[in-house]
Formats: sequence, C-alpha cells, structure tokens
Amino acid sequence: MNNTVFKFEIPQNESIAAYGPRSNSRLKLEKEIAFLLSAKTEIPLIIGGKEVRTGNLGSVVMPHNHKHILATYHKAGKQEISEAIAAAMDAKNKWMSLSWVERASISVKAAELISVKYRHLLNAATMLGQGKNVHQAEIDAACETIDFLRYNAYFASQIYSDQPRSGFDQLNRLEYRPLEGFVFSVSPFNFTAIASNLNMAPVIMGNTTVWKPATTSLLSNYILMKIFQEAGLPDGVINFIPGEGSLIGSEVIKHKDLGGIHFTGSNKTFNFLWKSVGENIEKYKSYPRIVGETGGKDFIIAHPTAIPAQVATAIVRGSFEYQGQKCSAASRAYIPISLWNEIKVNILRQMSDIKVGPPTDFSCFVNAVIDKKSFDNCMKYINLAKNDPQVEIIVGGEGDDSKGYFIQPTIIVTKNPHFTTMEEEIFGPIMTIYIYEDSDFIEVLTLCDSTSPYALTGAIFSTDRYAVVDAMEHLKYAAGNFYINDKPTGAMVGLQPFGGSRKSGTNDKAGGPLNLLRWVNPRTIKETFVPATDFKYPFLKS
Ligand code: NAD
Repeated sequence: MNNTVFKFEIPQNESIAAYGPRSNSRLKLEKEIAFLLSAKTEIPLIIGGKEVRTGNLGSVVMPHNHKHILATYHKAGKQEISEAIAAAMDAKNKWMSLSWVERASISVKAAELISVKYRHLLNAATMLGQGKNVHQAEIDAACETIDFLRYNAYFASQIYSDQPRSGFDQLNRLEYRPLEGFVFSVSPFNFTAIASNLNMAPVIMGNTTVWKPATTSLLSNYILMKIFQEAGLPDGVINFIPGEGSLIGSEVIKHKDLGGIHFTGSNKTFNFLWKSVGENIEKYKSYPRIVGETGGKDFIIAHPTAIPAQVATAIVRGSFEYQGQKCSAASRAYIPISLWNEIKVNILRQMSDIKVGPPTDFSCFVNAVIDKKSFDNCMKYINLAKNDPQVEIIVGGEGDDSKGYFIQPTIIVTKNPHFTTMEEEIFGPIMTIYIYEDSDFIEVLTLCDSTSPYALTGAIFSTDRYAVVDAMEHLKYAAGNFYINDKPTGAMVGLQPFGGSRKSGTNDKAGGPLNLLRWVNPRTIKETFVPATDFKYPFLKS
C-alpha cells in the first residue's frame, strides 16, 4: 500500500559532457561508435512487450556514408498495426490504475539509465543514424531526453497536487484521468529527445501509446525503447511499430479508440493526420486530442544598435548547427545596412573555420543532411538562388552526395525580402539575409511578421531597450519562442518550454506542464456531506 502524498522536486538540467580529446567520455563514446558500426543491428517491432519480426525488411543507412547499412528493421503490416492498438488498449487499465508515483519512478529511472549506463550508446546511435556531431548528440539524445524524463515527473506532481477548494459541507476533488483510448505518437527524425517525449509525456499521465518512429532515426529510437523496458515500463504501455507512415497513419487514425495524437514533424504529415481525423470523426468515442509541432521559418533581426560579432555568431550557430535541421534553426535574417559589412566579414571569417564531414571526425562542425530527399531539396533551393539575378550566394552553394549527403553551409543575400528562401522552410544549412535601411526598422518588423506562414522561433539583437520592446510588440504572434540577444535555437526543458503557433503547430509547449495537461481528461468530484431533504429554498416561503 502506498499512502504517501509524494512530491518530485524541480530537477537540475543534466550537465553537458564536453568530450574533449582523450577524455573518459570520448573513449567510451568511440567504443560504442565502433560497436554500432560493426553490429548491423536488427530492429524488430515491439508489441505488448514482445519482439515481432514480419520479414518485410527495410534498411537504416548513415547520412554521411549512405552505402553503410547501420541496421535492418521489420516493417509493420495491417495485422501488426491492429495488434499494437489492441496491446495498448489491453495495457491501459492496469497502467492508469497504478499510482502516478510508480509511473513517474519509471520515467526518472529511464533518465538515470541514460545518464549513467546508456549515454554513450544512445549518443553514438544518434551520431551515426541521424548525422549529429558529438555535441549535438549529447545535448539532444542524452541531456534533453534525461531532462524531459525528470521534469515530467516534477510537472506531473505539480498537476496532481493542484486541487480545488473544499468546505466543511463538501469535499471537492479533481481526478486527472488519462484520455480514453490510446495515444498515437508519431516522431520526427531530428531529435531523439522528442521521440522519447512524444511517448513518455502521455505515458506518465497514465496513457498508453502506439509509436510510429521515423525510419531515419530508428537505431536511436529502438535503443530508447529497450531502455524504457529496462526501466520497468510494463508490456503494452508503448508499442513500437516502424514501417510506412502512410499505411500506419491511415490504419491507426480510423480506429474508434483513438484518444489523441502526439506528433512532431512536417506540416504535410500533420495536415494529413488532422484531415483524416476530421474524415473519421463520427467513429470516435471521444474527440481525439491533437497535439502537433511542425515547421518553422525562424528569424534573426538585428537593430542598428546590435553588436556585430554577436549577430554573426548567432547566424553561424543558429543556421548551421545540425545542418539547419532543427525546427528552430535560423533561416532568414534582417540586417541594417550600417552593420552589414562588419557582420558579413565576421560571418565569412567564422565560416572559413567550419569543417564539413562525418560525425566520427570530431573536428567537423557540420555533417551530412539526413537523406537523399533532403539533399535534393536543399540543392533545389540553392539552384533557384543561383539562377535569380536578385540574389547572391556569398558563401557555400555546393553539395556532394557521392558518399554522404553533404551540403556546404550556404548564405544567400537577397534584394527581394519575399524571395522563396525567405518564406519557405528548407530544413537544411541555408540562411537567407535581407539588408534593410536603418530607418526602416519598424517596417522590417512588420515585414518579418507577414513574410512566412510559420511562427516558431525568432530573435532580436539590440542594445536599445525601446527597440527590443518594439520587436516584442510587433512580433507578438510571429514566434512561440522569442529570444533577446541570443540565437533562436537551443531551448531547454523546464527553462524555455517549446512550441509555436500559426503553421508551426498547436503550441502545446513541450518541456513544460502545459504539454502534460493535454494528456489528461479531468473529472471533478463533489461530495456533499449533509444533502438537502426538501426542494424548497428559504425564498419560496411566504
Ligand atoms: P515528417 O513529417 O516527414 O515525418 C514525421 C513522422 O511522420 C515520421 O515518423 C514519418 O514516418 C511519419 N509520417 C509520414 N507520413 C505519415 C502519415 N501519412 N501518417 C502517419 N505518419 C506519417 O517530418 P520529418 O522530416 O521527420 O521532420 C522534419 C519536420 O519536423 C520539419 O518540418 C521540422 O520543422 C519539424 N519539427 C518540428 C519541431 C517543433 O517542435 N515544431 C521539432 C522537430 C521537428
């Protein structure tokens, strides 16, 4: 019997390991890289806790060396999809009836397993499979995953303790039931931590999930699934089904017990999921809760009072870390003409030091983009820029996919603030800059607000407080995460809850308690101690 009223304290964010040459962590990581390179992992489905092999195989290759098969995986067919839903539904009652402290203890145990036992394996898989350098892998696969798992226990404890007032005559309670049915978690390739949280956030609140991972991140995602099991996650609470997105999506969405969708990925996929829910709306027991974080066209605006070296560094880091494949990556900038020359010289100096190559070469700041589709997409935009007289490529503009999908970090300068690369999400290492007259600062804020359909992240650089306030005011709805004198990437769990609106998603703020509230279906319980025995109120008496 557990009759304690337990409270998880607010955690510290996980420390970021440096991986300096000959450090202990570097040596351990290199060992795991060598292991994964030679292992050719076989990835089964995991349904109701059991490994399932369909024999319908696909391959996971490395972005920096696409001939190397890192893993093979079994694809789900219709039968396995329906088994996964049944397993999630079977596991639901026992899981939701378990004390939330027991559920949270599995979350914090998984965090500790990653921190001390599987950190280097998970980082190595993220480096090789998703093409991240060691620092990018560490801040994602290790630190952010751990932070989500630990903070969610704290957020859950806050939510459960939030109760209405009672009186001598009545007792009022709010019961935070999980959603009815199962949650469909659909994860993107670019963050191991997001894949974890898309499942573990609903799960800590008592839900069970059917998880469709992205094929290109399967190796790290499979390792995550094994870690959750080792942490004590009961069978059927998360059901891991790799395979074709379109097949899995259309099968799952038409199920009557769909309780919610937890999605991160492109607008195209999210629109498909939302429309399909609409088409199936008559079938469901409840209106499914839809949470989706999608694309971005994230900006940096420099005011004439900005410090050029800070703006240049924000552009280089914000645009090119992880090859611009963060939803928050800077991809358009507005620079005043008075600062442009100094900022340009500084950017070009910094970029001349950037090495592009495989993540196994620790001196490479930029690695390969995720796959052929992404490579072709980046080259399409670069070629558009090469053929337009209104724009100039000042650095980069080349790609080579003979061995890996490498795109040179590219900066386009445009005279047209509505040039395609100022408006559309590219999701690669391409930044477009528009130079404005210093006196047009306020007009540029309006221009920035109306240029792209997205509203995820953005940054203002200025040493003038009035200009900062003008930017915050004019760009109120242009970004869900707004930065003052910082690059628009690198949100940390618990510190900067993350998400944007407009075409960037439902803005349910992963990394904060608001997201967890989306996975509950509260019930209010009022108990009256001495109920009335006559319908007549005093005012009825003559
Ligand atoms: P994607 O939409 O191509 O894929 C996301 C997931 O959806 C994958 O698992 C994929 O297999 C699956 N999928 C594809 N079609 C499906 C269908 N019909 N039914 C069900 N599932 C389907 O996105 P991606 O390329 O993996 O990720 C990149 C995108 O994610 C970018 O647009 C980026 O901005 C966005 N993103 C947003 C955030 C955020 O917080 N806003 C964070 C990370 C990534």
